[in-house]
Amino acid sequence: MKVEYDRETCIGMFQCVDEWDAFEKNLDDGKADLDGAEEVEEGVFVLDVPEDAEFDAKFSARVCPVDAIRVYDDDGEQLV
Ligand code: SF4
Repeated sequence: MKVEYDRETCIGMFQCVDEWDAFEKNLDDGKADLDGAEEVEEGVFVLDVPEDAEFDAKFSARVCPVDAIRVYDDDGEQLV
């Protein structure tokens, strides 16, 4: 499972931070940071989700009010 995070879209509401500890508050930027993620294009970050974090990752995507977080299975199908 992979998570894709569009940091440009993020409006810094920080609900994701409460759901998954991979997301951290960046108060200077008013955006979340996704710890350990790779920037695949400008402002878009991708991270492999460890098996024990799949539930939290999906929840972080569900609570984001601007859909900046998407979760894909290993076949590339969007789950959230
Ligand atoms: S919930 Fe969405 S808008 Fe809020 S900090 Fe996380 S990614 Fe950004």
